[in-house]
Amino acid sequence: MSARVITEIPGEASRRLLAEQAAVESSARAYPLLTPIAVSRGDGSYLTDADGNVFLDFLTGAGVLVLGHNHPELLGAAQAQLAVSTHGLDFPTEAKQDFSRELLRMLPESMRRRTKIHFCGPTGADGIEAAVKLCKTYTGRSGVVSFHGGFHGSTQSTLALTGLRASKALPGDPSISSFFPYSYCHKCPLGLSADSCSVNCIQYLENMLNDPNGGTPRPAAVILELVQGEGGVIPVRPEFIRQLRELTYELDVPLVVDEVQTGCGRTGTWYAFEQYGIEPDVVVSSKGLGGGHPVSVILFNERLDDWKPAAHTGTFRGNQLAFAAGATQIRVMERDGILDNVRRVGAHLRNGLRRLQDLHDFIGDVRGLGLMLGVEFTPLGAWSAGELVDRVRTAALRRGLIFEPAGRGGCVARFLPPLNLTWEEADEALSILAAAMSEVAESAMSEVAESVMSEVAESAESEVAESVRSEVAESAASPRGHDGH
Ligand code: PLP
Repeated sequence: MSARVITEIPGEASRRLLAEQAAVESSARAYPLLTPIAVSRGDGSYLTDADGNVFLDFLTGAGVLVLGHNHPELLGAAQAQLAVSTHGLDFPTEAKQDFSRELLRMLPESMRRRTKIHFCGPTGADGIEAAVKLCKTYTGRSGVVSFHGGFHGSTQSTLALTGLRASKALPGDPSISSFFPYSYCHKCPLGLSADSCSVNCIQYLENMLNDPNGGTPRPAAVILELVQGEGGVIPVRPEFIRQLRELTYELDVPLVVDEVQTGCGRTGTWYAFEQYGIEPDVVVSSKGLGGGHPVSVILFNERLDDWKPAAHTGTFRGNQLAFAAGATQIRVMERDGILDNVRRVGAHLRNGLRRLQDLHDFIGDVRGLGLMLGVEFTPLGAWSAGELVDRVRTAALRRGLIFEPAGRGGCVARFLPPLNLTWEEADEALSILAAAMSEVAESAMSEVAESVMSEVAESAESEVAESVRSEVAESAASPRGHDGH
């Protein structure tokens, strides 16, 4: 299979379904506003729209479809489970206990025996809510420390932890979070250069928490993503997270890692924290975990388990289809060496993106871990970085590649392909991106040339006007008496 776009975007059938959707759904629709298609079906790394256009899918349901669309073995597991039971509250079932065993097996050996699982409501935000509630119960404290650029969900209290101001501009937000700088080294939040950096961002937090006059009480938890996703695909700096882990141990503040997006192999290990040599107190995992079906869990150190029976309930915590497909997915990933594929094809894709950076000055940074990659743009001529990303995105969509923007003002092109992406599919995406970037670079150049021409024309016009003006002024100033004498 390969990408093939045969109509303008949106085509006629997509246009009809999008219009019908717009008539009945809220104005908070999101993805179809950026990628205006109606979805017909998915096959592996490809998505077909209602008009028969085939796209290489580097969005994969916002990182949910870890093995791409309609993986036959995951479909088989879910179909078999469908005939047995679909919903089980939090009763144990064969499917659930199988899934639990696999979840624990995903953790490093040293964490397995002292890890407890809590099944949450089905979304990532539900997992974050549960993690914060658990830490508050354990510490008896109320505040939470989170970081600039972080994203933890769209519910009221996960928004309070989220950096993105636009999405939290609601009256009556529970302001439970104190925000601190994250190690966004490409644009250092403290304005330092790489040479003068001694990870001052984490020292700032350390000073504040240790300062009796720091103004912020000791928090119930510190929460962060190890690669900020919505914030612009920013991997945390190793020294930052190691010092944060030491500090939180010293102060007995639970460290919560939000692995909703980074988990389930996305970065090349089951969880990103493994690559940083730390052990968090709570891991929040969702998105890809249920083999395409909704599921969300927290995996936490048993010492935090001060919860009483039914302390955190929820009806949809027993999705048997997610358990069956999720357990199968973990086994398939192991059998097929998918983590290795993520590291290998991820490095290939990153190298290709770096080559594009060599060609285009508007690419400021290429970064990420495994198959969670981002390209940060810089402004070009009159276009902001976000506008450029948008133009490249639209040009790529017309050629058959779907991806999303992320970061401040959408300045990052973000890639979340399936983890079983092949080398050839990565090459296909790179050649689409290369063509899209060249098109945008060319139109930027011609726009710059046009604006230079019109400036030249304007200044030439004003020169002519100036000389006419001065001639008129001169003749007006010249002695009347020419003819008067
Ligand atoms: N945390 C992170 C890091 C995420 O990327 C997301 C969603 O994108 C969430 C939490 C929220 O997950 P959900 O949208 O399933 O509530």
